[in-house]
Amino acid sequence: MSPQRTVVWFRGKDLRIADHAPLRDAAASGEVIPLFVLDPHFFAPERARPLAHRMQYLVDALHDLAASLAALGSRLVVVPGRSVDVVPALAKRWRADRVVAQRWTAPLGRARDAKVSAALGRRFVLHDGETLAPPGSVRSGSGTPYRVFTPFAKALRATVTIPRPWPAPTSLPAVPDDVAADGAALPTCETLGFARNDRVLRGGETAAEERLRVFLRDGLGAYATHRDRMDLAGTSRLSADLKFGTLSPRRVWTAASDAGGGTGLQSFLNELCWREFAHATLWDHPELLDEPFQPAWKGFPWRTDEAAWEAWVHGRTGYPVVDAAARQLLAEGHIHNRARMVAASFLAKHLLLDFRRGEDHWLRHLTDGDWAQNDAGWQWSAGCGCDAQPWFRVFNPVAQGERFDPDGAYVKRWVPELANVPSKWVHRPDEAPPLLLRSAGVRLGVDYPRPIVDHAMARARFLATARAHLGRGDGDP
Ligand SMILES: Cc1cc2nc3c(=O)[nH]c(=O)nc-3n(C[C@H](O)[C@H](O)[C@H](O)COP(=O)(O)OP(=O)(O)OC[C@H]3O[C@@H](n4cnc5c(N)ncnc54)[C@H](O)[C@@H]3O)c2cc1C
Repeated sequence: MSPQRTVVWFRGKDLRIADHAPLRDAAASGEVIPLFVLDPHFFAPERARPLAHRMQYLVDALHDLAASLAALGSRLVVVPGRSVDVVPALAKRWRADRVVAQRWTAPLGRARDAKVSAALGRRFVLHDGETLAPPGSVRSGSGTPYRVFTPFAKALRATVTIPRPWPAPTSLPAVPDDVAADGAALPTCETLGFARNDRVLRGGETAAEERLRVFLRDGLGAYATHRDRMDLAGTSRLSADLKFGTLSPRRVWTAASDAGGGTGLQSFLNELCWREFAHATLWDHPELLDEPFQPAWKGFPWRTDEAAWEAWVHGRTGYPVVDAAARQLLAEGHIHNRARMVAASFLAKHLLLDFRRGEDHWLRHLTDGDWAQNDAGWQWSAGCGCDAQPWFRVFNPVAQGERFDPDGAYVKRWVPELANVPSKWVHRPDEAPPLLLRSAGVRLGVDYPRPIVDHAMARARFLATARAHLGRGDGDP
């Protein structure tokens, strides 16, 4: 085959040089032009500013990618414009034989790729890599998508061979001379109109590899016992790296498998399977970003209550774990998984507010905010999702706090007004003896709110509303 000229179109979910199928494909066939398009859908300051945590990670990752490509002898060519217009136009101007990229599972990316494909035809080639198994490939015996996680995970592990990741290339050809003059500057937090936040995880493949290394050394062994504890750094913190593709999922899977055995490893691989399940489900049901998975939930009578919404968003509900989650999100773009489940359930079930509003809010502020996983998490928590938490199970936020944050360290970190409340009362300050509260410097209703809803009332209200709407009892108490 004669040498080809290939544009490697990096998008926001594959920002790495190792285990990158499109880059490997291009490098094996001739000239390589690495491209990133600054699409105003994300990169206009008025769009980027509300997504500051994610955009900061993305900016870091782009700078890291550009440095890695430069070290290999190439260059990341950065071009502003709408990708559906820019990519076909550049392919023509640069006389590219092909444009290669990594496939997205999310509906927005699929719609974009369909347009680019219509313009470029067979010259546009998509490679898999966002997930361990190509979307749509794990099927039940009757060929249908799985609706339950456990058989899905079993089938994934039994039928999908996960090849070892490819190493990063050791060199790349220089960008061709006729392209060399093209390209804009990389964006920065400043050009995108927001201030850098040092609490947000550093983005990029270099930082992600270091996080992986530290987790495998210090965290994997105890992961099964520590992962649910909100007060411990017991999880990998690799979610944003997986979301932006600064690590490929098979890099993480293989490195963990090489590093460990036992329950820590199995529990960790199981979470990676949940990630697969979320992406596979959204691939087969793109409508899920707007609708509940279970049709009986359509038209659910969510309440409107702006005061309750504002209290939930800003961490002033009077339920310490819920408030810690809200404040951690706004401060650093992350929430512990257990706190996500408690806070999401609280919005939908205790407050009876539409989970989609919470889903949008989190998608905006989470550094790892991902259409598939965020939607799956919210629908699971509300009870309307694919293999969701049964709708009649209502988390008790106080009991969850006492169990998974036994000394209250998580709450005290994010809700400092409770810092001096003894562990015994920190998850239920409204029940603490008044004298004790006074000596801890807390005036309820002044320094820290009283609960905005009573747990028993809220639980009963949700169950009655759900039972009336769903019109059935399936196993509910
Ligand atoms: C309401 C709600 C919303 C969520 N939104 C997101 C989101 O937008 N983006 C996101 O990446 N995760 C989301 N999750 C899943 C989970 O909370 C995060 O992946 C996890 O907390 C990230 O921390 P970690 O990397 O330390 O996880 P670890 O415990 O170290 O897990 C390893 C990896 O497995 C995946 N994973 C872990 N738990 C889940 C899960 N329950 N579902 C799917 N994948 C999982 C993640 O990619 C994670 O990085 C959500 C969960 C809930 C309940």
